[in-house]
Amino acid sequence: MRVVKVPPNHTSARCNICGAIHRGKDVHIWRKQTDSFKCMNCNHSENADANASKNLAIKGIFKIIKSEKEEWFNKFDNLITK
Ligand SMILES: [Zn+2]
Repeated sequence: MRVVKVPPNHTSARCNICGAIHRGKDVHIWRKQTDSFKCMNCNHSENADANASKNLAIKGIFKIIKSEKEEWFNKFDNLITK
């Protein structure tokens, strides 16, 4: 199978430091500026593209994201009160 083009949403939504995966609906919090990422879990902030590339460099990243995202989504849902 050919290499599938990377869907940008989750790799750019994952913190490469602590592994937190952010929800698309919270994008206004973790990506206030289009070019900068800010982790809601550990407060790590970095250029958004740099953060995404570091995630992409991780072997099996899609598997990791797939298996861990629900846990993070729930965590952030509990964290954010509206
Ligand atoms: Zn983080």
